[in-house]
Amino acid sequence: MADFIEYRQLIVKTAVELVNKGYLSATGGNISVRIPSHQALAVTPSNLDYLHMEVSDVCVLDLDLKPLAGERKPSIESAMHAAIYKTRPDVNAILHTHQAYPSALALIGKPIPALFDEQVRFLGREVNIIPYQPSGSGLLVEAVVKHVNDHHNAYLMANHGALVFGEDMIRAVGNVAVLDKCALAYLLTLCAGEKASRIPDAARETLFTQLRKDQEKYGLD
Ligand code: 13P
Ligand code: ZN
Repeated sequence: MADFIEYRQLIVKTAVELVNKGYLSATGGNISVRIPSHQALAVTPSNLDYLHMEVSDVCVLDLDLKPLAGERKPSIESAMHAAIYKTRPDVNAILHTHQAYPSALALIGKPIPALFDEQVRFLGREVNIIPYQPSGSGLLVEAVVKHVNDHHNAYLMANHGALVFGEDMIRAVGNVAVLDKCALAYLLTLCAGEKASRIPDAARETLFTQLRKDQEKYGLD
């Protein structure tokens, strides 16, 4: 039977990297990677401290959530991860974090407009807010699926955290860092009582076209 060891190792390595960078802590958030050969995903187990997670703790599920490997209970957001892989063929890694700066913007209901070139190039035209639904619920899955059709790679989850995608794990981790920087810069601007300037519309559209070209390679229209 397949043990999907490389994918499960990638989950452990990435979780530790995200903890060390301050984007994940304790058991908050969850991460996954697509396993294309099996229409499956490797996902963090539920409620286990990332710094105590072993490769054998990582769960493998098919996209209908049937367990393929791992003894632990999978993340309560596994259905959300699987639904995103079904909806977005360009997404091969998903990071759900409870990062403070994006979470703060979600609390005050401020989507992030096009502030920086690298933001639009990698995350999309803006970072929108997915309305609140309870963690781990079918309603949250529905709300997420409704929003992720807009070709963006980062979202704020109201009263919860952030949701970030990548065409691979390295890009997804990079996108978490881009989101964190944008969120902090925007928060500081708002705290200063100022209006944030945006990049020009023409530059925004050129950068977004580059992101769309990347996505077309993976079959996203
Ligand atoms: P899990 O530990 O089940 O992944 O839940 C953490 C979380 O972030 C729920 O949204
Ligand atoms: Zn969460």
